[in-house]
Amino acid sequence: MKILVTGGTGYIGSHTVVELQQQGFEVVIVDNLSNSQAWIVDAIAQITGIKPHFEQFDLADRALTADFFRRHNDLKGVIHFAAYKAVGESVEKPLMYYRNNLVSLMNILESMAANGVPNLVFSSSCTVYGQPDELPVSEKAPIKKAESPYGNTKQISEEIIQDTLHADKRLNAIALRYFNPIGAHDSALIGELPLGVPNNLVPYITQTAIGLRPHLNVFGSDYNTPDGTPIRDYIHVVDLAQAHVVAVKRMIEGRMKASFEVFNLGTGTGNGVLEVINSFERVSGVKLNYKIVGRRAGDVEKVWADPSWSNQELGWKAKRSLDEMTASAWKWEQAYRARAKETNQ
Ligand code: UDP
Repeated sequence: MKILVTGGTGYIGSHTVVELQQQGFEVVIVDNLSNSQAWIVDAIAQITGIKPHFEQFDLADRALTADFFRRHNDLKGVIHFAAYKAVGESVEKPLMYYRNNLVSLMNILESMAANGVPNLVFSSSCTVYGQPDELPVSEKAPIKKAESPYGNTKQISEEIIQDTLHADKRLNAIALRYFNPIGAHDSALIGELPLGVPNNLVPYITQTAIGLRPHLNVFGSDYNTPDGTPIRDYIHVVDLAQAHVVAVKRMIEGRMKASFEVFNLGTGTGNGVLEVINSFERVSGVKLNYKIVGRRAGDVEKVWADPSWSNQELGWKAKRSLDEMTASAWKWEQAYRARAKETNQ
């Protein structure tokens, strides 16, 4: 059974390709490598023993996307990860974000309809909830006005998908709203690979610990939370990847309750920044150099998931602990830097 994974050489995409292949799916990756590297296809093959078919092009190109779908008209579904994802950059370059994230989605939906590919899993985010009025946040919580163009692309994308499904009854979609994915595959052959200075907490921690950054800035300790830092629901990327396989099977096996479904992907537990640092120090034995500085603009105070609907409906549950997340992130950082040194990457 053939599945297209867009953005399949990216962080979450690559972990999902591995899980799909290990569950017997044939995977085709499309990625323009704007934020990833071609060797990740080989790393996936090293883990699973199967090299996924890979095509490098930009899904924002309508003609190339249409041509791809004509050549792969036996696809059973699409998992669409390919998108820009840096909140700060989206504030600086909003049109770049709207064009890339929305045009690629429209091209994919158009080609799915034209070629009878019925099933889409869409990579969404808990950012659509903003600062929720009630915690934990369930899928029924209202969508808040987006804090950034990036967040807005996720909200608009969900609307584009729903309108398209309304007009074309052959199509189905599941939007998966991710909380904070961290960690890496046990093999340490794939993991998070930010270009330049990381924006996210865990790659910043591991790059500081390995000596690439002098210290970590902790953005604010005056929030109304137990340790004063913002609270997030960190989820192991492999748990997250496995949820995509479950969602694809649900669609293919005709078990959806409506043509559009939404699921939260989180653990249901929130942790402050200092708790993540403590976990990292405990599992790595490395003392982290960090400084508490002012708040980062746009950060919400606290958000964690109510995953009960996903647990019940998907029969999926995040299993891995915070210590397993930070340990795997550290193992990956060390392995990647050692390999890069050997090969002068
Ligand atoms: N954070 C931090 N220092 C950093 C990066 C992040 O203190 O260098 C904090 C950030 O303020 C937030 C948490 O770590 O409370 C998670 O941030 P991240 O960017 O990883 O994910 P977000 O929840 O913003 O999508």
